[in-house]
This record gives sequence, C-alpha cells and structure tokens, in this order.
Amino acid sequence: MKFFLPYWEDWVHKDFDPLTDSYSGGYENSIFAHEIYSPPPYDGVLVSLGMFELKLKLIKENGKPKIRGFSNIKDYLRTKGKLPVLGDCGAFTYVNEKRPPLSVEKAASHYHLLGFDYGISVDHICCETVTVERGKEKEFKFVDLKETGKGKLKLTLSTDELEERRQLSLQNAREFLKLSKNASFIPVGAAQGYSVETYIDSVKELVRYGYTFIAIGGLVPRRTDFIKELLKKLAEEVDLEGVRVHLLGVLREELLPEMVKWGIFSFDSASYLRKAWLKAKENYLGIDYKWYASIRVPDSRNPRLKKKIMRSNLSPSDIYEQEQKILRALREYDSGKVKELDALIEDVMTYDRLFFREEFKEGKYEKLYRELLESKVWRECSCPVCRKLGIDVVIFRGSNRNKRRGFHNTYVFYGRLNEFLK
Ligand SMILES: [Zn+2]
Repeated sequence: MKFFLPYWEDWVHKDFDPLTDSYSGGYENSIFAHEIYSPPPYDGVLVSLGMFELKLKLIKENGKPKIRGFSNIKDYLRTKGKLPVLGDCGAFTYVNEKRPPLSVEKAASHYHLLGFDYGISVDHICCETVTVERGKEKEFKFVDLKETGKGKLKLTLSTDELEERRQLSLQNAREFLKLSKNASFIPVGAAQGYSVETYIDSVKELVRYGYTFIAIGGLVPRRTDFIKELLKKLAEEVDLEGVRVHLLGVLREELLPEMVKWGIFSFDSASYLRKAWLKAKENYLGIDYKWYASIRVPDSRNPRLKKKIMRSNLSPSDIYEQEQKILRALREYDSGKVKELDALIEDVMTYDRLFFREEFKEGKYEKLYRELLESKVWRECSCPVCRKLGIDVVIFRGSNRNKRRGFHNTYVFYGRLNEFLK
C-alpha cells in the first residue's frame, strides 16, 4: 500500500540556520522533504490543481502553463523520476460552490501539459452542509438553513442536491476518460457518494466506464465505521480485479489493517505533516510513537506579533534579550550544560505571557513542556532533520523549524507504516 504526501508549497530554505534564525532567498533556495530524506518518507506526491488557484499561480507562456518557470511538475518538485505525482482538483477548495469552477477540459489539459503521472477527474464532494453568502442559497436545494453570524448561511443539502453532485462527478469522470485517451497521464476516476450504497454505485459506474484506477473522495468527515463498512462492501460487491483504489485524505491508524485486508492500493494525508504547526498539543511525533507538544518561543521581531508585545511595559530590546536567553538555555539543556528545568520552564512561560495568546493555557503547557524536555526524545531520532536541528526541531517558531518538524513526523509515520506492511 502506497502513501502519497499532499503538497501545498511545503518546502523549506536550504540554508536555514536556527542559531541565527537566518535564511536567504525564496524557492530558488528551497529544499523538499524528499531531498532531505533518502529514501523519501513517502511513495508519491499529491498535487492539487487548486493550489495553482490559491497559492501559486500558473503563468502561461505561449499558451503553456508554467510553475515558477518549469513546464513539468516533476522538474519543479525535483522528484528526479523517483516519485510519481498524482494530481487532483482540490474538491475541498470549492465545496461551497454550486459547481466546480474547473472544467474537465482544463483539468485534463493541465495534467497532460504539466507532466503528471496520474490525474483525478473533476469531482464535487457530496457534503452534508455548505456555507454560502446570503443570496446564493437560491442556487441550492436544502432542508435546513442557519445563520452563521458573519452574514453567511449554513445550508443542509437535500438528498436531491447530493445526488446531483454525485451524478455531476460521474458525468465529469466519463468525459474526462475520453479526453485523456492519448494523454501522457493515467486517468483516475473520482468516486463520490453520501451513503455506502451511493459510493458503491459510483465505483461500479467508473469501472463500467473503463477506469482501472479509482480515487474515493469526501471521506475525511466520515466516521471510521462508515469507511470500514464501505471497504468491506466494495470488496464484496464490486469486481475490482485489475482496478487500483486510492482513498483521498484518509489516514487513521486503526483503519490501516482493513485497508490492507481489502486491497487498497494507496492513500494520502498531510495530517502528520501539518500537526507540527496546527495542533495545540501534538506537534512532534517521537520515535516512541507518542505525540509531544512543541515549545512556543515566538519571534519577537515578527511583525504580526510585534503589535501584541507593544502592550507590555518592556522595551523591544529587553524582550529580544529574554527571547535569545531562552533559546540559548534550551540549547544548553540539550547539550547537557543546563540541568535545571524549573527555571528554564518558568522563563519560557514568562516570555510567552508577553504575547497575550488567549488560547494559551499555562498549566497545561507547563506540564507538556516538562514531559518533552525530560524525555529528550528528539535526541533519540536519527533522521537528518533532528540530527541537524537538535532541540530546535521541537521549538515552535517560524516555518523553517515547524515544517521540518512536520517532515520528521511524516518520516516517523512512514517508517511505522512500512514496519506494519512487512
Ligand atoms: Zn527526526
């Protein structure tokens, strides 16, 4: 079973120096997780065409799309032919629209021109609720409507509306398969549904159209039992001989045995990567397979945080000095020079208070920081990120540290997955 990492411009600066917090340039000075780790901590990369709408614009040259000057996605990602690249349309980015903004022709042409290995058809998630601007509700068939308080409305879609989305996904898949006949990528049919039965029906239809690779979408909010039932029924009711099945965005460790049992070919998830900076308490996955919180040492020179510390009575230079003292002490604790934890943790907490972060629950973090520091778990990891960064890998501060910590998490998960698959 293959693991794909969804990519959303997740690179770091090659020359980042944690001691001086410095780096230079932009993409031209980038390094990807698959360049840091050998072998890469995933079997392939999932790139959403939605990224080109929201994050990184495609520039057309002589009618051909280019990503940062590259006409091939694999040259841009520097996969060197080692990692397959799977494309999808990023259905979650337009889930609140009546229809996908991307045409089937455009998706097929982008996959082809940009040299994707696999391309998923243009689908529309059959999600129970959507949030829309007032006035837009007229476009939808819904059974319930709620104010969200921000001038927006939350609609609970009717079964008719959901079925319309499912049929649209199937119709698109049919057209997409025809359009990709002589293309350079392998077409993947997207199956959507709003019940186990409708998902099964979608997969059957896609097989009937002639797809040999199917991606099941919209499962992220579904309960684990729902997915288990779906996998079981899929194996029982659909002839999947010669058909590969990918689960989009699903990473639940308790599901892995079922996924293997029912012959799932691949799955993707960025959750271990993103936990590094999105979760409150689970930021670093130790090689003991326990999650640890990262130590927040905010950058006082960050323009976004500057405003907050203006409210304190200290001068910016005093604050900066305090911040540097903490970073030094953490590194000295790492090397064994500093042994006294109480004072160090107290300094970290006092410094953090300057940032008036509402979500910050002192008592809770003090305990979590102590647990992390006492374990020195980052020292146990032999991966290139932990070896190079030392204790800085568990410091929550700036994207160069935070994303590298995410790479480490992905590496630990991937190692565990491969152990499991043995
Ligand atoms: Zn590591």
